[in-house]
Amino acid sequence: MRYRINQKTQDKISELGLGSAYMPQTPLDQAIPALRRAYEGGINYYDLAAGDGKAFPMYGEAFADVRKNILYQIHFGADYSKGTYGWSLNLDTIRRSIEKQLKELRTDYIDYGFIHCQDEFSDWETYRENGVYDYILELKEQGIVRHIGLSSHTPAVIQRIMEDVSIDMLMFSVNPAYDYGQGEYANGSVDERTAIYRRCEAEGVGISVMKPFSGGQLLSAAQSPFGQVLTPYQCIRYALDKPGVLTVLPGAQSVEEVETLLQYFDQPEEALDYSVIGSFAPPQASGKCVYCNHCKPCPMGIDIGLVNKYYDLALTGDNLAVQHYKALKKNAADCVQCGHCDSRCPFSVRQSERMTKIQTFMESQE
Ligand code: SF4
Ligand code: SF4
Repeated sequence: MRYRINQKTQDKISELGLGSAYMPQTPLDQAIPALRRAYEGGINYYDLAAGDGKAFPMYGEAFADVRKNILYQIHFGADYSKGTYGWSLNLDTIRRSIEKQLKELRTDYIDYGFIHCQDEFSDWETYRENGVYDYILELKEQGIVRHIGLSSHTPAVIQRIMEDVSIDMLMFSVNPAYDYGQGEYANGSVDERTAIYRRCEAEGVGISVMKPFSGGQLLSAAQSPFGQVLTPYQCIRYALDKPGVLTVLPGAQSVEEVETLLQYFDQPEEALDYSVIGSFAPPQASGKCVYCNHCKPCPMGIDIGLVNKYYDLALTGDNLAVQHYKALKKNAADCVQCGHCDSRCPFSVRQSERMTKIQTFMESQE
């Protein structure tokens, strides 16, 4: 397992986490071993926007003895009073739901208390008017909620909420379909979505990724909007390459499915290369580096994806990215303009020209 640090909370978070949309459909005697296998495989981050309320006693039984070693995302707005998931903005409903969830999880604290599923500006207004956000703050003051998160599919709403309040984690739907305007939650333009990744990275807000396979669509040639299959491993790498992303949260229902996910870390680089999406990138995405490193190897040993990521972040005013760039052993100043990357890039990035721009810009920064 590999881990990333949430810069705002200093929590060490596994690159692969687990979502809980499907696990509750699994019989208990299969779900418990699956969750324990995830834990033994190093997964320490678990999202609890479950498809069914049965998830909570299940997780409680699986993890009560190791609770202090794992992190839960718990959602203020997910209601299970009717058994299956329901969305609510009502304070009393949410309060009852949270109290029940804590009891069934056999815990008395919440690592990340999430402002849940805010996709419209009006959702956020109602959420605050109804006192739900204040309730999260109240629990934070009591030490029950450690950190605050936000889940949303909509970049404009995320920007607004990040202006209004401070968050430590964002749960966002990240996959190539949504980023390229395809699928149910393909909200926001390429640039608006990219701005979310960059803002989170610059402000140290971690991103946990929901729907990394676009609800399974990307794994099926018949259903994929691109008419071409991607593997789960390509989708996971794609999400982990986005600035700000700390962890990806696919679902699983059995020990075997958890093991298949964990094999992500044993895949050769070629199996993780998702540059095929360049062939279906929309015109507005053409010429923009997605940090995929398909253009490697650079004869000068430049990590082209990383240099570009730091540059894009530096353009948004992220001075830390400038410092990270300057600490690289090889950077744009080492480019000899051989053009190899230009000929390899499936996204039509004129990378050799970009290296000149990056060098000039970085030299102007302190
Ligand atoms: S220049 Fe192209 S191939 Fe290289 S990292 Fe950027 S998008 Fe990927
Ligand atoms: S043009 Fe520069 S960055 Fe691209 S492969 Fe050649 S040396 Fe590396």
